[in-house]
Amino acid sequence: MTTAATITADDERRVLDGVPTGLLVGGTWRAAKGGAVFPVVDPATGETLAEVADAREEDALAALGAAVAVQESWAQAPPRERAEILRRAYETIMARVDDLALLMTLEMGKPVAESRGEVAYAAEFFRWFSEEASRIAGRYARSPDGGSRMLVMRQPVGPCVLVTPWNFPLAMGTRKIGPAIAAGCTIVLKPAEQTPLSALMLGDILAEAGLPEGVLNIVTTSRPGEVVAPVLADSRTRKLSFTGSTEVGRLLLGQASGNLLRTSMELGGNAPFLVFPDADIDAAVDGAVLAKMRNIGEACTAANRFHVHGNLAEEFADKLAERLAAMRVGRGTEPGVEVGPLIDEDGRNKVSALVRDAVDHGARVVTGGEPLPGAGYFYPPTVLAGVGAGSRLLHEEIFGPVAPIATFADEDEAIAWANDTPYGLVAYVYTQDVNRALRVSERLDYGMIGLNRGLVSNPAAPFGGVKHSGLGREGGIEGIDEFLETKYIAMPA
Ligand code: NAD
Repeated sequence: MTTAATITADDERRVLDGVPTGLLVGGTWRAAKGGAVFPVVDPATGETLAEVADAREEDALAALGAAVAVQESWAQAPPRERAEILRRAYETIMARVDDLALLMTLEMGKPVAESRGEVAYAAEFFRWFSEEASRIAGRYARSPDGGSRMLVMRQPVGPCVLVTPWNFPLAMGTRKIGPAIAAGCTIVLKPAEQTPLSALMLGDILAEAGLPEGVLNIVTTSRPGEVVAPVLADSRTRKLSFTGSTEVGRLLLGQASGNLLRTSMELGGNAPFLVFPDADIDAAVDGAVLAKMRNIGEACTAANRFHVHGNLAEEFADKLAERLAAMRVGRGTEPGVEVGPLIDEDGRNKVSALVRDAVDHGARVVTGGEPLPGAGYFYPPTVLAGVGAGSRLLHEEIFGPVAPIATFADEDEAIAWANDTPYGLVAYVYTQDVNRALRVSERLDYGMIGLNRGLVSNPAAPFGGVKHSGLGREGGIEGIDEFLETKYIAMPA
């Protein structure tokens, strides 16, 4: 049992020693071709935590071969059987929440309390899709002219390639693996190179839960471009589900088009957080802390920019700055830490550059504003007031603990600001006027709205964006559709 108050170096070692570090291919953990490995680094210290197999193209094609080999038998497995495997895996994850949370903190940096939250969120996708597995239904009808009968069935789409990012090392995997297993698809999973350890542990947990060999294959690599492209070009692959940056998503969509793959794309965001003059300002500040600081600001759903009515802007900035300045920054394993390190030096450099650019454009630093010295990639919670329209951070994903505040004069201006982006994942709206709430929600070009609430993610809800934030939905009753194909059978009357 490890909790934030009691984590020791021995706990860390024990958890790391329990992680399989090979490639999972056809139910066997094995080395990469030529025995290549790459290091996984603790972003709080810069030290190597573990070395994992560094797959090459032929390893990835072997993983695809293993997935293809069992696709037909897996599609025939009774839905209840698939459901019960997911349910057992859910139970195991929850039973091991402390170890999984510690592992996640070590490789990704977020505070252990937050990692526990992600582990529970991740597990919930398995519970949710275990419940959906036995509800896959089709339909039957007579044709309108009575001349034929129509049967519609839904079948697994086939072998899937799942590519996931580092910021939610477990949940971004289970959000895809859960519905793929429930639907009867086989899988090649490629986790992010920064955080492969949580995904590797998941491979063991699913095997323990009874998942047949070959249904889930895991390929870790430091060369994702070289390894993923040939798998997408292979005609045996039928689906790509990707979560990550819009830039890489666009590239992979291009690759997927050659093979006409079904695709689900969960991409970048630039979430506006709108505070109208009739908002409950303290509730808005509470929501802002959550929407901004969850995951150290490294979330696609992170509030990227705050547009606050001119009458409230100063009070909002002061209250938010007071809350953020009080948050403790440090290694996520230490008790009381609320803000861990950013993922790497590039991530921190980007945040620093965006803050400097905003200041050059006239923004005032209310708190924070400079990277922290010493080991690890730490950046303090930062509030910038009076952010000018030309500032880059209003248009680019910040991915760090920085809250830029700009003002608006009326509803039309707020909506124009909010929609002035190619992204469309989530927008947050604070108002106590129910008519305004619905009117504004209708006009926002986003896949999700947080209405007087700073957190939208829920495994039972359809998560996803519009425009450059992606295609398709994950979670909810919609999530399994992404892994099912529709077949129509025409019969005589
Ligand atoms: P990234 O696009 O750099 O990497 C994502 C994944 O793609 C990783 O597994 C990486 O190894 C792989 N990859 C990178 N280059 C590749 C290539 N050429 N070919 C094949 N695979 C390649 O993103 P990231 O930095 O890991 O994650 C952060 C991004 O993810 C942010 O933009 C964030 O908004 C987005 N994200 C979106 C959601 C969502 O649900 N919409 C959720 C989490 C993160």
